[in-house]
Amino acid sequence: MSKIQEEIHHIKDGLPEGVRLVAVSKYHPIEALQEAYDGGQRIFGESKVQEMTQKYEALPKDIEWHFIGHLQTNKIKYMAPYVTLIHGVDSYKLLAEINKQAAKVNRVIPCLLQIHIAQEETKFGFSTDECRTMLDEGAWKTLNNVRIAGVMGMATNTENEEQIAQEFETLACFFREVKENHFAQDPNFKEISMGMSDDYPIAIGHGSTLIRVGSKIFGERIY
Ligand SMILES: *Cc1c(COP(=O)(O)O)cnc(C)c1O
Repeated sequence: MSKIQEEIHHIKDGLPEGVRLVAVSKYHPIEALQEAYDGGQRIFGESKVQEMTQKYEALPKDIEWHFIGHLQTNKIKYMAPYVTLIHGVDSYKLLAEINKQAAKVNRVIPCLLQIHIAQEETKFGFSTDECRTMLDEGAWKTLNNVRIAGVMGMATNTENEEQIAQEFETLACFFREVKENHFAQDPNFKEISMGMSDDYPIAIGHGSTLIRVGSKIFGERIY
């Protein structure tokens, strides 16, 4: 077994039922993804549409492609035909644009609402209040080609595990609130995407259903 495959097995062995691993393969070559695939991995996360599309075209078609980066509206059309889940939706405008591109290819694209939970300026996302307002306004209900499948967030990049735990709990709590207020009857609203290489065990402890792990599997990224 290769090092990549060993890491994947090690992580998966520790996952509770209901938690899935997104192998974040951004900036890594096709060969690395193929190795992960040969080791049984089927969900990959990418942050650039062009890079993801090239990999999609080169690799087996039973892979689930998750887009985890910051979205530009003019790129959505390139992934609309095949993307499995878009993690980082942080405005109504973006949701409406995804809906438009999904309609053109006759698909319903699952999306997660990205919530800003970190104490850092640089991370994207709705504030919880902005997200509440967007959901209360209700226009999203007219978008028949997107499906809101849950929430996503990134904790502060810090050694302070208390703080990370608190941020993940904030996201889990917000998920429960939104589920109750808007999706109580909708089994598709079920994902909490949180946890990366350095903090995924904490995220699992707070109810993560999708962990997004890159460098722990593939090594350091070369930008
Ligand atoms: C790059 C990235 C990851 C993976 O980060 P690692 O620390 O390498 O595990 C997870 N989520 C998002 C949104 C990312 O951009």
